[in-house]
Amino acid sequence: MSIMSEKIVVITGATGGIGSALAHWVIEHGGRVAVSGSDTQKVSDLVRELGEHACGLSVDVSNEADNQALVDLAESTFGRVDGAFLNAGIEGRVAPFNDQSDDDWERVFNVNFHGVRLGAKAVIPALKRAGGGSIVMTSSVAGVRGAPGLSPYVASKHALIGLMRSLAAEYGKEAIRINTLNPGPVDNRMMRSIEEQSNPGQAEIVKQAFTTRIPLGRYVNNQECAAMAGFLLSDQASGVTGNTFMVDGGYCAG
Ligand code: NAD
Repeated sequence: MSIMSEKIVVITGATGGIGSALAHWVIEHGGRVAVSGSDTQKVSDLVRELGEHACGLSVDVSNEADNQALVDLAESTFGRVDGAFLNAGIEGRVAPFNDQSDDDWERVFNVNFHGVRLGAKAVIPALKRAGGGSIVMTSSVAGVRGAPGLSPYVASKHALIGLMRSLAAEYGKEAIRINTLNPGPVDNRMMRSIEEQSNPGQAEIVKQAFTTRIPLGRYVNNQECAAMAGFLLSDQASGVTGNTFMVDGGYCAG
């Protein structure tokens, strides 16, 4: 039997690099998905690409009703929810701390922190109805170490680890497991944006500088992140809760 057989997973940020890879991974391993993203056209394109085992909705994760609507869609389409990948996030503006405005902070925290908090709030009752389940929140290596120019992003990803640990302690007795996925630099759109913002016109130089600090000598990819998230969502990880899981090519090893 495939490891996601009969599993129904809600995915936010599914139209992006990592979320899309996880949606494909779940279906390839026998499960079904309710996907979401902020762009309506991208969500319908993804649902078409994934086929009959997927449904989808465009949402703003910082809106409580949108999170509820996504969970309701998953339950009404597939009858149950077993897991959630709360993965939507934005990098925000790369700028010195003193140049980050209140709006910059609010925008990043609304998506990266409140989006995940509201996603958990909506999905936990559904997981209870299913008799338990697994939540994976996408934090980052920026959840465990600082990065110049990215203070709102770094603070939001640290905050997620506190939220994850609190919820893991609170909901373990209800068989709900909660962990974070902590990718290092991923070879996708978000890193291209961070590289370009860090040194306009010189993105390749920024990439080289990051790469020299990664023991594997390269960025990780979307599929490597999805494989870890998928494992945590599966029953193979039935004893795993309250932890952070780096997929960073060794970046945090020093
Ligand atoms: P991406 O930009 O390709 O995907 C981001 C996704 O989030 C998209 O589907 C987008 O529609 C969705 N989203 C953004 N704002 C939203 C909103 N307000 N409401 C609903 N959906 C919204 O980037 P990605 O690399 O796939 O990022 C996925 C997660 O991984 C993010 O939380 C990101 O912070 C984290 N992460 C990425 C990297 C990296 O190097 N790319 C490293 C560490 C962590």
